[in-house]
Amino acid sequence: MTSRTVLVTGGNRGIGYAIAAEFLAQGHRVAVTARSGEGPEGALTVRADVTDAASVDAAFTEVETKLGPVEVVVANAGITRDTLLLRMSDEDFTEVLDTNLSGAFRVVKRASKGMLKARFGRVILVSSVVGLLGSAGQVNYAASKAGLVGIARSLTRELGSRGITANVVAPGFIETDMTAELPEEQQKQYLSQIPAARFASPVEVARVITWLASDDAGYISGAVIPVDGGLGMGH
Ligand code: NDP
Repeated sequence: MTSRTVLVTGGNRGIGYAIAAEFLAQGHRVAVTARSGEGPEGALTVRADVTDAASVDAAFTEVETKLGPVEVVVANAGITRDTLLLRMSDEDFTEVLDTNLSGAFRVVKRASKGMLKARFGRVILVSSVVGLLGSAGQVNYAASKAGLVGIARSLTRELGSRGITANVVAPGFIETDMTAELPEEQQKQYLSQIPAARFASPVEVARVITWLASDDAGYISGAVIPVDGGLGMGH
């Protein structure tokens, strides 16, 4: 196994924390960005808000100084502002797009500098089953997550010949703060549609991501990999 320098955005909790912990367990050098709190023990935590390009740039510079050039980047930070279309304000829409989609753009753009120089890179974007399946009450979130597929596939065409891969991981229902907020009725409804008949733990997403970053996955690019117990079959 080659040991890499990895940066995970939003690594202070939920799926991002699990991703960072899994990379650490596999012997990589790991940094996480956080607006608050800390990543897992052993990770370097740097402050960054993905809606602010200067803050993203400063975080990368700190990681590069302390751990070396970022070889694997996981754009995981994300938010929801769920509500039905007619009640969705411009702010509800643009805030979600600015964090989930433009945030990923800022992060991968900054990451690509070092990756191009090294002629190696792994870009992994955390999308959602909802990006391709759609979801009532999530026009903003679904649009942001679908957009990540366009980013990964365009990066694949633009940077593929330089040893850089770009893939999307599309989780289904994962037990984190984000899903804990959903009303019990909605959780039950989701469960009834999941062929695996259960929700997943963050580590089940993390292990797919560490595999995508591994030497074994070097010829996979522009893919959308579901981790959803079958919920989105047909993508
Ligand atoms: P959480 O709500 O538990 O964590 C979200 C993370 O994103 C936090 O670390 C948060 O930081 C960070 N974040 C939010 N806004 C910003 C910002 N502007 N700048 C920097 N960091 C920010 O979410 P999950 O762990 O559940 O989700 C992680 C990713 O997985 C998200 O992209 C989500 O859309 C996606 N996903 C989740 C699913 C699920 O079922 N849970 C299903 C499918 C996809 P802070 O604590 O500082 O706010």
